Amino acid sequence: MTGGVVFDIQRFSLQDGPGLRTIVFLKGCPLRCAWCSNPESQQPAPQLLYDGDRCTLCLSCVPVCPSGALTSAGEGALSYDLTLCTTCGACVSACPNAARSISGKQMSVDEVLAAVLRDAPFYRRSGGGVTLSGGEPTLQPDFAKALLQAFRQHGMDTAIETCGYADTRTFISVVEQVDHVFFDVKHMNSTRHMELTRVPNELILDNLRALMHIHPDVTVRYPLIPDCNDGGDDLRSFAQYLLRLPRMPLVEFVPYHRYGEHKYRLLGRPYSLNGTPSCEEGEAERACQVLRQHEITCSALHH
Ligand code: SF4
Ligand code: SF4
Repeated sequence: MTGGVVFDIQRFSLQDGPGLRTIVFLKGCPLRCAWCSNPESQQPAPQLLYDGDRCTLCLSCVPVCPSGALTSAGEGALSYDLTLCTTCGACVSACPNAARSISGKQMSVDEVLAAVLRDAPFYRRSGGGVTLSGGEPTLQPDFAKALLQAFRQHGMDTAIETCGYADTRTFISVVEQVDHVFFDVKHMNSTRHMELTRVPNELILDNLRALMHIHPDVTVRYPLIPDCNDGGDDLRSFAQYLLRLPRMPLVEFVPYHRYGEHKYRLLGRPYSLNGTPSCEEGEAERACQVLRQHEITCSALHH
């Protein structure tokens, strides 16, 4: 039976497609955006999160670990060896302070479908549906397609949020099965794109062009990151690229926020945009005005 790794299912979202939506977050992403607000989504496999602020160093987790990944390092200190951890979850259950959790769970199509169908009455009333997000859903193409087919068999409206970085044939085989596509464009300069996301942008931009040839409902989303991609030249390059597409998609600016910052601490990773402030009110609207000078219709999302 087809299955895959899901790291969250959120209900009653209003932002990622029409009406009230359930968002299914698939784990794994080929990009490493400096501003990623879901860093726990990046690694394809389930992984252990640890909140040092909650940990009282009671050491209840140490003896239950079957892999020897947790050891007492003396003086009540705790040591964790990631290479030994099998994400079995035994320490999560043993911890009295909820300092440990596992992000990501293997699920079958039927299990995801059952979770999503709980909200079906709301979709019908609000004109909503289900959105595949991530991570990057096309990184698990067979699972994504099987989910989309199951959703559609139940008459649900479907959407996908994608970074567009996938082999073109694979990418198209997934997105052609959804009603609405939300496609991220992050920087027009490939060298700078590489610095900010760790991959170049050519494949992404080619895939967007291919998508515009075959899909009637595409929204391009541009995350607006202070001092990374929000300069006048950046926005004018974006406008020029949009004008060269086979037809104009809907365009939305997404203002940067720092909501995901604490998750880096849970993963034991530094936050590379430390010191970058969230976008001020009105920044995304100012970016819209630059595009409107090129007669491109666009809108600003809110935090
Ligand atoms: S998830 Fe399992 S293997 Fe990993 S540290 Fe916890 S108990 Fe050990
Ligand atoms: S059981 Fe929880 S609170 Fe106790 S040492 Fe382990 S992580 Fe910390």
